[in-house]
Amino acid sequence: MKVVLLNFTKDPDRISAAAAQSCYSEKGASELFETTTDEKAKKMIKKVVGMGHLSVVEHAYFTFSIEGVSRSLTHQLVRHRIASYSQQSQRYVSMDRSQFVLPPSIAGDPEARKLYKAAMDESWKAYRELAKKVPKEDARYVLPNACNTNITVTMNARELWHFFSLRCCRRAQWEIRMMAWKMLAEAKKAAPILFEDAGPGCFRGPCPEGEYACGRPYKKGQMPSEEEMLVESGKPEP
Ligand SMILES: Cc1cc2nc3c(=O)[nH]c(=O)nc-3n(C[C@H](O)[C@H](O)[C@H](O)COP(=O)(O)OP(=O)(O)OC[C@H]3O[C@@H](n4cnc5c(N)ncnc54)[C@H](O)[C@@H]3O)c2cc1C
Repeated sequence: MKVVLLNFTKDPDRISAAAAQSCYSEKGASELFETTTDEKAKKMIKKVVGMGHLSVVEHAYFTFSIEGVSRSLTHQLVRHRIASYSQQSQRYVSMDRSQFVLPPSIAGDPEARKLYKAAMDESWKAYRELAKKVPKEDARYVLPNACNTNITVTMNARELWHFFSLRCCRRAQWEIRMMAWKMLAEAKKAAPILFEDAGPGCFRGPCPEGEYACGRPYKKGQMPSEEEMLVESGKPEP
C-alpha cells in the first residue's frame, strides 16, 4: 500500500484560523491571514473546533494518492460522501496481470493461503480467457474483491477528522485502518495544528463504540506500529 499526500491547501492551519477569526472581527480574512501567528492560529482553531464551529476547517483541502489497495477497501472508502474520488477503471485498464491484496490472517495460515492463491489463479485465468472474447468491462465481473486498485481522494479537513475518527479505530478493517493512519501521518505533517487531536475516538475521551469497544484504547497522539495497524478488527463490516 502506498499513500502519498499529493497536494493540499497552502497554509491550511492559518487559512482555517483566519476564516475563524474573520467571524469575530471587523477585519477581513486577508488581513487576519497575514497577521496570524502559529500560536494565535492554534488558540483560535482549538476554540472554534471545541465549540463545534467546524465549517472553518472546511477551507483546507487535502488530496491523496492511494495505490495498491484492494477493491474491498475502496468500496468502504467511497461510502464517505463528502469527498471527491477518481479510481482506476477496470473498463479501460487491462487487469491481465494478477495483482491482489493478501490479508494478514490468510498470509499467516499456510492452508488458507493455498486456498486463496488457488482462487486468485482461477479468477485471473477466467478473466484472461473471457477478455479474448468479450469487452474488458464484462470480463472483469469474475475478478475478486482482493483485486489491486489505485484511487485519488480529496477531502477537506472536517471530513478527514470524521474519517480518521471512524477509520483509525480498531473497529475498522485492518486495510482501511492502515490507510487511514498513513493518511493521518501525512495530514499531520501538512497541518500540525488542524490535525493535532485527530485520530480515533479514543484519542479524545471514552470510546464511542459502546458494546463494540475493543477495550484497548490507543495512546493519545501516538501512531501505532505497522504490526498494530494490521490486527484484525472487532465486528466485521460487509
Ligand atoms: C466499523 C464500521 C462498520 C461499518 N459497517 C457497515 C455495515 O455493516 N453496513 C453498511 O452499509 N455500512 C457500514 N459502515 C459504513 C458506514 O455506515 C458509513 O457509510 C461510512 O462510515 C461513512 O460514514 P458517514 O456516513 O458518517 O460519513 P460521510 O459520508 O463521510 O459523511 C460525513 C458526515 O456528513 C453528514 N452527512 C453526509 N451525508 C449525509 C446525508 N445524506 N444526510 C445527513 N447527513 C449526512 C453526516 O453527519 C456524516 O457523518 C461501517 C463503517 C464502519 C467505520
